[in-house]
Amino acid sequence: MFTLDEAHRALQSSVRRFAQRELRWRARKLDAAPAGSVDWELLRKSCALGLLSGQLPPPYGGTLDRLAAAVALEELARWEAGFATLLAANSLAQTAIALAGNAALGERIFGEIAAAEARQEPLLCALALTERRAGSDLLHPDGLQPTRLMVVARRRNDAYVLSGRKAYCAGGNVAKWLVAFATVHPQRHSAGLTGFAVATEQPGFRVTEVLPTLGLRACPLVEFYFEGAVVPAEQRLTPEGQGYALVQRLGAYDRCQGAAIAVGIADGAFALARQHTLARVQGGGPLVQHQLVRHLLADMAIHIEAARLLTYKAAASEPPEATLSAMAKVLASDVAVKVTTDAVQLMGAYGTTAKAGVEKYFRDAKMTQILSGTNEICRLAVTRPLLPLAAEA
Ligand SMILES: Cc1cc2nc3c(=O)[nH]c(=O)nc-3n(C[C@H](O)[C@H](O)[C@H](O)COP(=O)(O)OP(=O)(O)OC[C@H]3O[C@@H](n4cnc5c(N)ncnc54)[C@H](O)[C@@H]3O)c2cc1C
Repeated sequence: MFTLDEAHRALQSSVRRFAQRELRWRARKLDAAPAGSVDWELLRKSCALGLLSGQLPPPYGGTLDRLAAAVALEELARWEAGFATLLAANSLAQTAIALAGNAALGERIFGEIAAAEARQEPLLCALALTERRAGSDLLHPDGLQPTRLMVVARRRNDAYVLSGRKAYCAGGNVAKWLVAFATVHPQRHSAGLTGFAVATEQPGFRVTEVLPTLGLRACPLVEFYFEGAVVPAEQRLTPEGQGYALVQRLGAYDRCQGAAIAVGIADGAFALARQHTLARVQGGGPLVQHQLVRHLLADMAIHIEAARLLTYKAAASEPPEATLSAMAKVLASDVAVKVTTDAVQLMGAYGTTAKAGVEKYFRDAKMTQILSGTNEICRLAVTRPLLPLAAEA
């Protein structure tokens, strides 16, 4: 089932109040802040609401199921989708450790997070899969594509030594723990894909570039280098060469989160467009009185609700179902792009100004068609069960 029960609705109300109080006035400030910066005060306040640790395993304080997490992200993204994306990246890396880490590693990392949270000190995690030369190839639903990886993990006694550059890591400059993928077989390239948990406060980790982006600017997107980072063997998350299976499992979690963020963006833009069409008088009355405008508003509302329902349904499946979550991500992000485009249109010249606030939704929406696996890759995931080769796999 994907209806919201009392607990989900209570969470929705409290995150909505938090977002109105803390994000609404900050949104433009965060969007305009120098690339790479995060608002630590806001993160501290988010700790109090359990937004940084909500998806940890329950013994470490996790209280949010995936549907609750989707509801929370939607509420945050309605005002500040970049901040929601930063929290989603954190949860995804935590999920990777929960799914694949051994008990001792989980105890260590989740224990650290829970202790930091108790002191209201945010401790963030991030996930580093993508490289400059390897993006969609690592996420292809028909199997890992042969692609050259730049990050190599060489076994040395009881440790691995990681070297090479990662790209487009959300929150990688502020995370204390990374889930990083590297190849243990440089000659076999992506076939050697293996996951590791890596502490960033150690020699051999260096952020090399913070990338200014079109949207979601409150979520830093960075490149970093491993320069001989020594990672103890017990921090290996997957068997050697079997990182792709973990990547595939994580994809469904990631896409539920991406879909929820896209729904929030679409809803935020819709609210602005609706207010504007009620207030703005042209053609002898408020814009909303014109039939064409009402049709446009109706389509926006219909598509947002459809995207929300599919997102909730995908998030309510436990573990998240791969096809549903890919469908939800495609639908929600395409709806976000369409709705934000129409919202700018309905607001005319004013809509194109930063003052109106809707152009930020428009920029943020485009990003959601690319994060969590591009919509092309997600569409391939949707069609995969329909193909004969799925039965043979
Ligand atoms: C906001 C944001 C946050 C991100 N956060 C992270 C993160 O935290 N960690 C991380 O590792 N990565 C992250 N990424 C990177 C993201 O996962 C990649 O951008 C994505 O997987 C696509 O890879 P690429 O950018 O290299 O594009 P490419 O793979 O180069 O694709 C370019 C275009 O070609 C299409 N294409 C590629 N291959 C195929 C194919 N086989 N069939 C059809 N079309 C194809 C793509 O759909 C796309 O339209 C983030 C990206 C964004 C925008």
